[in-house]
Amino acid sequence: MSSDPTSTVLSFEDARHLVERHAAGVCLQVVEKVDLLAGAGRVLAERILADRDFPPFDRATRDGFAVRAADLAEVPARLEVVGEVKAGDWPDSGTFSVGRGQAVGIMTGAPLPPGADAVVMVEQTSLSGIQSLEVRRGVKPGENFVPRGAEAPAGQMLLDRGLRLDHTGIAIAASVGKSRVEVFRKPRVAVLSTGDEVVEIDTTPGPAQIRNSNSYSLAAQVQAAGGEPVRLGIAPDERSRLRQLIEEGLGCDLLLLTGGVSMGKYDLVEGVLGELEAEFYFTGAMIQPGRPVVFGSCGKKYFFGLPGNPVSTMVTFELFARPMIEALAGMTPQPLVFLRAQLKSEIRTKTGLKRFLPAVLVGEFENAEVELARWQGSGDIAALARANCYVVVPPERERIEVGEWVSVLSR
Ligand code: AMP
Ligand code: MG
Repeated sequence: MSSDPTSTVLSFEDARHLVERHAAGVCLQVVEKVDLLAGAGRVLAERILADRDFPPFDRATRDGFAVRAADLAEVPARLEVVGEVKAGDWPDSGTFSVGRGQAVGIMTGAPLPPGADAVVMVEQTSLSGIQSLEVRRGVKPGENFVPRGAEAPAGQMLLDRGLRLDHTGIAIAASVGKSRVEVFRKPRVAVLSTGDEVVEIDTTPGPAQIRNSNSYSLAAQVQAAGGEPVRLGIAPDERSRLRQLIEEGLGCDLLLLTGGVSMGKYDLVEGVLGELEAEFYFTGAMIQPGRPVVFGSCGKKYFFGLPGNPVSTMVTFELFARPMIEALAGMTPQPLVFLRAQLKSEIRTKTGLKRFLPAVLVGEFENAEVELARWQGSGDIAALARANCYVVVPPERERIEVGEWVSVLSR
């Protein structure tokens, strides 16, 4: 038993990779069935297959005329219009077969009639009377329609297990007639704030007290990551009550603690977890904000000790806790993706830590520009609320000039 976890401080990349390795395969595997729309934002627990060919027929992609391309080898050409298919019509060969020198009017989304091998756009034609069509441009066979099964043949997998459903996934499930989908149960994520100065948000804080904003920001981040937050309230900086609440939190699928992981005399989180024979994978990362971040496991459950400063809490959640929640939720691992933007005003800082600094991303279309938000350090949530991203400053950089391209983590 150890009440003094040895200090392991990793680079940002090593710490992230370590979390990802632990997260691989932690999916809870409990499946529930929900109405399709309730599945938005949930993680698929079943494969969705094409229930028939996609498209189910040769589907016109233009309004115009179904033709035989060979008839238009020389243009202008004159064709005889022998019928019309609109979307929803089924052109059976008896009525609508396109013979040599013939054309059939066709609308976008309608099935190509037998005999035709291309669609000529209405803009390239003129009709005299109801039957005589002049075509001014030739077409190649296969032009302006999607052949049956070209998008996906019947039986092909359209969506894999582990995909978090967004509107495109919902569209696919809807198109194969899935009014209910199997998704993984959301992981229950305990959120425990610590600190004698922290009070609940509906109480009037004393002069030296602050409201428990971290519980709420974290709960919101847990929800956004696909988890179900379980707020356990506030643990005082006192061992026995802290231990009791930590044990309660370990009953959930994951435990997130905020505060109490720094070097102060009343930072008790690691000590109490040590008493519970926790294993610590890292007790710090070379980042700012968030250097004292802790990751470990206790029994069969993982936990993160996130620093209490609100901005540190938010940043370390995104960098480290999010991939674990996504994995518990059954999601296929997602890489952390950074945008690139040009710096609008220079950055001066100290070397040694990888910094994730609140910043404002502006500009239009492809011209993304970014500049740091003015802030008072990791407690400054007002600055963070004015920002919309973090600029990533590599540990070896002391100064970044205006116009340089920097990495940006969006929020
Ligand atoms: P700690 O990590 O416990 O040293 O706390 C660092 C700073 O974060 C202190 O200024 C705390 O008051 C503040 N803080 C800690 N927990 C919370 C919380 N739950 N909500 C808002 N601020 C907090
Ligand atoms: Mg504290």
